[in-house]
Parts: sequence; structure tokens; C-alpha cells
Amino acid sequence: MAGIYLHIPFCKTRCIYCDFYSTTRSELITRYIHALCNELKMRKEYLKEEKIETVYFGGGTPSQLGEEDFQQIFKAIQKHYGLEDCREITLEANPDDLSKEYLQMLSALPFNRISMGIQTFDDATLKLLKRRHNARTATEAVRRCREAGYQNISIDLIYGLPGETKERWEKDLRQAISLNVEHISAYHLIYEEDTPIYNMLKQHQICEVDEDSSLEFFTLLIEYLQKAGYEHYEISNFCRPGYYSRHNTSYWKGIPYLGCGPSAHSFNGTTREWNISSIDRYIKGIEEGQRVFETEYLGPTTRYNEFIITTMRTVWGTPIEKLKQLFGIEMWEYCRKMATPYLKSGKLEEYEGALRLTREGIFISDSIMSDLLWVD
Ligand code: SF4
Repeated sequence: MAGIYLHIPFCKTRCIYCDFYSTTRSELITRYIHALCNELKMRKEYLKEEKIETVYFGGGTPSQLGEEDFQQIFKAIQKHYGLEDCREITLEANPDDLSKEYLQMLSALPFNRISMGIQTFDDATLKLLKRRHNARTATEAVRRCREAGYQNISIDLIYGLPGETKERWEKDLRQAISLNVEHISAYHLIYEEDTPIYNMLKQHQICEVDEDSSLEFFTLLIEYLQKAGYEHYEISNFCRPGYYSRHNTSYWKGIPYLGCGPSAHSFNGTTREWNISSIDRYIKGIEEGQRVFETEYLGPTTRYNEFIITTMRTVWGTPIEKLKQLFGIEMWEYCRKMATPYLKSGKLEEYEGALRLTREGIFISDSIMSDLLWVD
């Protein structure tokens, strides 16, 4: 089984915290879709004829595309990969794009999951972040998706935002829970270099939340969502039973995926590739039959390290037998030796043949994972 990720790098406007590759030049959409379909065709060998189980339209803002654009992309996937075994097709959408008419248009397409970037329900903060929606637009968008028949809706939240208080974050969590969606992703704000919000921080126009508050917000996130019946299945992801994101889970389980479009990454077990982060050079390259990308051959140590980092972040943990099978007994002995102090202190546990983070371990997951890595 394998997944396909399609990067749709168009945004109406740019949010101040975002460092994903995107552009506001919507006049390029037609040429871009053509190039994207060509890339799908050019790279059909990459997945070695694995069946496609998930397709994910991410961005950027995929909800900036129209019906004809989607039709062309689906036609290309169907022709070169087939969609017969596909179980999850996700569209990332901005709440303000999800009008009744847009949802009606989408109903003719095979999407069965909508993932919406809500981020917060605090209108002043949404404005500061230069999001185009407010809390009401977001709530209505979720309701409209439900009315349109979507039974698998995900929302994204960000915490640790400027001026965040315990009360405000709890209010966000209560509002998120009241939407009764199947899936919630929640990430701590990262001040990525060269983003406008990073520059505002450097110029003391806004303040970063302190470490104790970050920890408190993360604790509240887990408590609130688990109490509301969500399973905490990955460090930043929660779902109603059975509604984990199949596509993102394939990244964490080492399942191959093909990423198309500028800045998209691909992985097939032996190599990792990433396309150039420039729409102009991407389109030009594809039009000339020369895709612009970089590639990395994954040697055994890199593969072992990636295996630890990706598997350990999930509730399923790092499968011990698979680790032995893939990397040999010596690597497993090393892993176990490094894990021993954490097993003794209750930060890691062995559960159903896997090594996984405990509730306490989740709070220091970065240090645990980095201690288990192999350093040459
Ligand atoms: S957060 Fe989403 S909508 Fe905002 S600029 Fe980034 S990709 Fe575009």
C-alpha cells in the first residue's frame, strides 16, 4: 500500500506564522495543474506499483482549486495509479472557502475527508495571524460540511499563540470539542525564521509564551480531548475511535508515498526525494521534462533513526520484531540499552510487542527519541 500527496501551493493571502511553500499568484493555476498531472505520469515507477490507499491534497490551500482542476488531477491518478483501493481522500480547506456552493461542487468529487485549518476561535488572534476567517465562519463551515454529508472531518488548532492564557486555550478546546469532529490536530506555535511573526517577536511587538505555560497547554489539550472521548494516537493528533488519519499515519509507519508539486517530499523505503520549492522552476522543469528535485539514498543508520523518530511518536510505538527484522539484533540491543533508563523511570513501556511512550514520556518525547538515535 502507498499514499499520494499533492501540494497545492496557492493561497489567497499569506498567514504571518506560515513557512509552508505557497504563492498568491493564482494566475499560474492552469499551468500548474497541467504540470502536476505530468509529474504524476512521469513518476509512476517510484511507488513500484504499490496500490494507492490514501490521497492527500495539502498546501497551500487546495480549496483554491475549482472542479475542473480537481477532475484533471483525479483523472491522472486514476489513469496512472488507480483509485480502486483508495480508502481515504483528504482535502485540506480553509473555512472561508467552504461555502454551500463550493461544497456542492465538491460533492461530485471523490473526497471523503475534509481537514480544516481553524487554528483558534479567538477572533482578535485570527486577525493578528492574518487568517481570513473568524470563529463564526469556522463553526459554520464545519456545520456545512456535516450537512453536505462528510462523516470524517478534521480540524487543526495552534496553541502557545501570542497572548495565550490558560483560560483562552481552555475556551478554544471547549469550542473545538463542541464541533464534534472526528479528528483534531493541535500544534504548538513555532516561530519559524524569516516569517513575519518571527520578525515581530524579534522586534518585541509580541511575546512568546513561557515554557511552563506551553507544558500546561499541552497537558490541558490531552486532558480535555481524552475526557471528550478522543484517542491521543500521535503526539499532536487525536481522533474518535477508528478515525485516525490514514495518510499521516502512513508517514509514521514507514509506508511509501509519492509527493508531487513544489516542495513535496517522497519516500519509497530506499530513497527520499524532495521537489524544488519554487513554482516557476517546478513548472518550467516539468514542461521541459526535467523535474527539479534532490534525492537522498537512505543508508541503514538513517533508516534506523527515521524508524525510531516516526514510529515512536504514535500510540502504536516502535515494533520490536520489525526493528530486529529491518536492522538486525545489534541495533535492537543498542535501542534497548538506550531505552532502559526510560523504561525504569516509567517514561517508556513495552506494550503489545512495541516500545512506546507513556503518558509521562510524551512530555519529553524529543529527548527520549534523540537518545535512542544512532550517532556515527
Ligand atoms: S497557513 Fe495555510 S492558508 Fe495560511 S499561508 Fe500557510 S498554507 Fe496558506
